[in-house]
Amino acid sequence: MSEKKWFIFYRDEILLTQEKRLPCSPQLPKGLETPHAYQELPEVDGVKNLAVRSDVLPDEKWGYRHVGLRASHDVLPLSDFRLASKARELLHWDEQTRYCGRCGQPTDRGSVISKICSNCGNELWPTVVTAVIVLVYRRSVTGNRDDDELLLVRGRNFPGNYFGLVAGFVETGESMEEALVREVKEETGLEVTGIEYRASQPWPFPSVLMSGFFAEYKSGELTLQREELLEGGWFKRNALPVIPGKVSLARRLIEMWLEE
Ligand SMILES: [Zn+2]
Repeated sequence: MSEKKWFIFYRDEILLTQEKRLPCSPQLPKGLETPHAYQELPEVDGVKNLAVRSDVLPDEKWGYRHVGLRASHDVLPLSDFRLASKARELLHWDEQTRYCGRCGQPTDRGSVISKICSNCGNELWPTVVTAVIVLVYRRSVTGNRDDDELLLVRGRNFPGNYFGLVAGFVETGESMEEALVREVKEETGLEVTGIEYRASQPWPFPSVLMSGFFAEYKSGELTLQREELLEGGWFKRNALPVIPGKVSLARRLIEMWLEE
C-alpha cells in the first residue's frame, strides 16, 4: 500500500508530527479512530494527499502537535502549506454543503470537488469569495524616495498588534477596482488614483481569494472609520511599525514597495 500524506484538522488546527511535518503513512495515522469528511487533494510526485476532519484531538501518547493553520506557514514547506490551505477550504465547504440550499435534502458527492442533490439535481461547487487589499502610497514633494509614505492601518479584527493594509470584500456587481476605491474611501476618507494590480493569494480563513493592488494617494484628509480601524497613518520606509507576518499578501506587497 502506497504512502499517503495526511492533512488532519481538528477545528482550525492542523496536526503535525513531533518533527513538525505532516503525518505520512499508508493508512490513517494512529490515534485517529473516528475521523470523518475524507477529502481527496491533488496528488504530488506520486504521493496521495488526503484531508480529514477529526472531532477529537488524539491522545498525547500518539505524539502529535496541533498548530493553527496560519502558524503552520512558519514550519511547513510552502507546497505543504498551500495544500493544507486548500484542504482547509474544502473541508469547510464540505461542512457547509451537507444539505441542498434549494430543497433542503442531503447532498451526495458528484466529484472530488462537487456535490449533487439526489432529490432535485442541484450542483454545488466550492465558493471562492473575492477580496481586495491595497497598498496606498504618497510620493514626497522632494522627490526623495526615502520621504515617500505608505498608508498603514490597524484593524479591530487583526489577530495581533501589527499594522496592515486597507482590505475588504468585493460586493456583487462590483469590479475589483471599484471595490478598492470604495473601501479606501470608506475606511480612510481618501481618494486614490493609478491603481495597479500586483499579486494575488488564496486566504483560507475560510475561503477568500485576496487580490493585491498598489494605488497612489490623490486627495483627502485621513479620517479613519472607527468601527473597523483602531489606528492608522502615513509611514516612511525607515520608520515602519510592526507589519504583518510572512503568511500574508499584505507583507508581500509591503516588501515589494520597500524594494522599489
Ligand atoms: Zn435539492
